[in-house]
Amino acid sequence: MLAIEGGRPVRPRGSFLVFGAPAIGEEEIAAVVDSLRKRWIGTGPKVAKFERDFAAYKGAHHAIAVGSCTAALHLSLLSLNLEPGDEVVTTSMTFCSTVNAILHAGAKPVLADCDRRTMNLTAETIEAHLTSRTRAIIVVHMCGRVCPMPEILALARRRGLVVIEDCAHAIEATCEGIGAGRLGELGCFSFYATKNLTTAEGGMILTASADTADRLRRLALHGLSADAYRRFSDAGYRHYFMTQPGFKYNMTDIQAAIGIEQLRKVETHWQRRAQIWQEYKAAFEDLPCYLPPRMPEGSRHGYHLFTPLLDLDRLSVSRDRILQAMTAENIGVGVHYLPVHAHPYYASGWDWKRGDFPNAEFIGDRTISLPLTGDLSPRAVGDVITAFRRVLTYYHR
Ligand SMILES: *Cc1c(COP(=O)(O)O)cnc(C)c1O
Repeated sequence: MLAIEGGRPVRPRGSFLVFGAPAIGEEEIAAVVDSLRKRWIGTGPKVAKFERDFAAYKGAHHAIAVGSCTAALHLSLLSLNLEPGDEVVTTSMTFCSTVNAILHAGAKPVLADCDRRTMNLTAETIEAHLTSRTRAIIVVHMCGRVCPMPEILALARRRGLVVIEDCAHAIEATCEGIGAGRLGELGCFSFYATKNLTTAEGGMILTASADTADRLRRLALHGLSADAYRRFSDAGYRHYFMTQPGFKYNMTDIQAAIGIEQLRKVETHWQRRAQIWQEYKAAFEDLPCYLPPRMPEGSRHGYHLFTPLLDLDRLSVSRDRILQAMTAENIGVGVHYLPVHAHPYYASGWDWKRGDFPNAEFIGDRTISLPLTGDLSPRAVGDVITAFRRVLTYYHR
């Protein structure tokens, strides 16, 4: 008997498995305490170190730490000097901030559909929406699966477009040996609490251009000519000059302190998630759902979200009932995502309606994200498997 039907939950009362709870250890806690004791809590030496470490991990020329991936996307778009009426193509199958950032940069968001299996944009779905006003493409590497970048980059080159990568799910992912975030001109990362690497809140931009890196740094801190670290160091008093009204998008040393420690563990956590991924796939093969596809040979999965698509034709209830049933078993679940064009703001006053992006809608109606964190215990993974099997078997028709 399912818990939602009055039975006993798989996990006992008081031990709810929170979806996306971060893998935080004593090292992160000690690093934050160290920052507090040193009284350097703003942007300082730890941010500089985190940027160096992250650039080294990704093999990137320049890494600019910011307050969020949303800020990273916003600044990346601003660095393109877009004009009103310029269009940026992205996917409807993403978190809303990918699209909001285009609005904030003063450009027009243009949505494209995704592939039903990979959940990613393809060169074909993008090309259908290119016009003479298109200036850039934001690809989103959903769940940690890198988009088909060779084709997309070839299309962008042919049409003279800039490619920005939303790598919020894809820190560890690669495409033909090149790290996500270095495939296009700009790569944006999220260190939000639920992401593969967290700083509580935070983001990073990668670029190969020293000029762009310099502009992004200024824009991220009021448009000042020198950052606070240099301003308050013992190298002597320095005036600062504002050269352009920028934003308050800097990362703090408290956040970077967490990030430095998280980065040391990023591969260990990735390996654990890869292992859980295989366990889930093996355990759910016979259930009425479509399991996530494999990556193409030579590419590396980021394993950020494990998202079976429920086979509604073989289930007697809706996806939302399954979400409730899992929650009743004391297992936290997520939805990634309801398509962007289904959100009230974009559903009215914009040119989009249900039916426009059938694959994004197909996914949005069926997807459920199960817990996948680098420190999940074998017991917790076993509970997720027991609960998901129990719920889907119960409602199988
Ligand atoms: C989390 C996420 C964002 C936003 O990241 P923040 O750091 O919270 O601003 C953007 N895009 C995608 C695909 C995300 O998953």
